[in-house]
Amino acid sequence: MTPRKIGDLIWHLHHDVLCEPLTESLANRIAYIKNHKPKAEVETRLRLMKPIRGKLPVEITKAYVAWLKAYVAWTRPELPELYVDWIKADMAGAKALSDYRPEVEALHAIECPDCPWTKHPGSIFGKGRA
Ligand SMILES: [Zn+2]
Repeated sequence: MTPRKIGDLIWHLHHDVLCEPLTESLANRIAYIKNHKPKAEVETRLRLMKPIRGKLPVEITKAYVAWLKAYVAWTRPELPELYVDWIKADMAGAKALSDYRPEVEALHAIECPDCPWTKHPGSIFGKGRA
């Protein structure tokens, strides 16, 4: 897998989220899953967690470029007050994903075939595990 960077959108970074941006290295997330998640869940989590390769609507891309700028600014120790800006950018990114949900789900269907994802509840572990 090509190294991914902070801000890259990833399918199923968490079991209950369809896609979201990286806030740490993918290697860190993989290590966390291997060390802290139930053994029966590890294979499914690692198999489904992958970068989005196709094109998403430009509004989503723009929102996540703004998200990345706000995130990088906030993580500078001398500028902790920028946390609120990052939260706002995070909410804008989530709204963009929500506004273009059909397009996101269509791309998910192509890039994540045979995925057990359920919308209600949103989970890669089906209806029994929210
Ligand atoms: Zn999937």
